[in-house]
Amino acid sequence: MKRAYKYRFYPTPEQVELLAQTFGCVRFVYNSILRWRTDAWYERQEKTGYIQASARLTALKKEPEFAWLNDVSCVPLQQTLRHQQTAFSNFFAGRARYPTFKSKRHKQAAELTASAFKYRDGRLYMAKSKAPLDVRWSRPLPSTPSTVTISKDAAGRYFVSCLCEFEPVSLPISPKMVGIDVGLKDLFVTDTGFKSGNPRHTTKYAARLALLQRRLSKKARGSKNRAKARMKVARLHAKIADCRLDALHKATRKLINENQVVCVESLKVKNMIRNPTLSKAIADAGWGEFMRQLKYKAEWAGRSVVAIDPFFPSSKRCSCCGFTLQKMPLNVRKWYCPECGADHDRDINATRNIKAAGLAVLAHGEPVNPDPPKAAQVRLREVGIPALQVREQSIFLPKHHGN
Ligand SMILES: [Zn+2]
Repeated sequence: MKRAYKYRFYPTPEQVELLAQTFGCVRFVYNSILRWRTDAWYERQEKTGYIQASARLTALKKEPEFAWLNDVSCVPLQQTLRHQQTAFSNFFAGRARYPTFKSKRHKQAAELTASAFKYRDGRLYMAKSKAPLDVRWSRPLPSTPSTVTISKDAAGRYFVSCLCEFEPVSLPISPKMVGIDVGLKDLFVTDTGFKSGNPRHTTKYAARLALLQRRLSKKARGSKNRAKARMKVARLHAKIADCRLDALHKATRKLINENQVVCVESLKVKNMIRNPTLSKAIADAGWGEFMRQLKYKAEWAGRSVVAIDPFFPSSKRCSCCGFTLQKMPLNVRKWYCPECGADHDRDINATRNIKAAGLAVLAHGEPVNPDPPKAAQVRLREVGIPALQVREQSIFLPKHHGN
């Protein structure tokens, strides 16, 4: 399996210069060829692919006014055209919007393949620079990287991301299983009654961010003070993002370490983000990233994440007797089941339903058929969960099951 290992590094003044030049060339090539490809289509109805783009780059490098493109390694320039091709493929397949121009203000990156870097005796060298990169190796690399991506974020920090082959180590089989419900009041609640709380990083720094943005808005355009103020805003944004990611990594690591199976309701995060009153809070909670981490960590550890369809009535259903209420307004936090009289905490009741549905899917679910709503309904009845409508959406089983 392949995995990226990301480290921070501190470039020498010469490397800063070389990297600035490289990032600039990458951006120029990406943008000018994107312009050229767009024009080719709109003005002449010509279809262009990677081959034409690559030929165009060769032609550009021969023109005297663009001779400076030859001062940097040719590899990242070629790689950026490959990335552009992927962006176009995603656009034509309906997965993404039309590729956009790269901005100088955002994150800059240059991808180096084997011919453009050297990894020797635990040191990383990039082409056209004699000194090794001063990388803070926070963990060892498992193998020589196949690709290295050097980036500089908006806050001016440099990172190197090394793509390496690695052998995932399965965790010992655990008897524990958990159902979790992700939300805003708590990032997640488990069926054992654990409530994680929600750190709300953006809210915490909102006042400071507003102050810095206000100061930035008053600085004259193009001035040095404006650049300094912009950097302060970028650094605070980076801090918020780091805090959020750190909390998510700790939470997902704990869930995967402790449980063999994690059942979770899959959310349509993109649709929910369109809700204008909640979008900020939802984006801040990082549900999408939470799910992504759960899935890949489970895969590496040989554990399972079962995603339950969001149409499953997890909140409205009594986890004791299966009675399903008609309505369950969002403000109801506690309720009594009219059928069996059970006293429910809204979130914990939901997690119990999610766990039951997840285990039912797991017991009957493989191999997974993506779209059999009726069949799933019948199967769940067989296992004794009444009055449910579950559409299995996706299920992630470890490849090496049982031993
Ligand atoms: Zn009940």
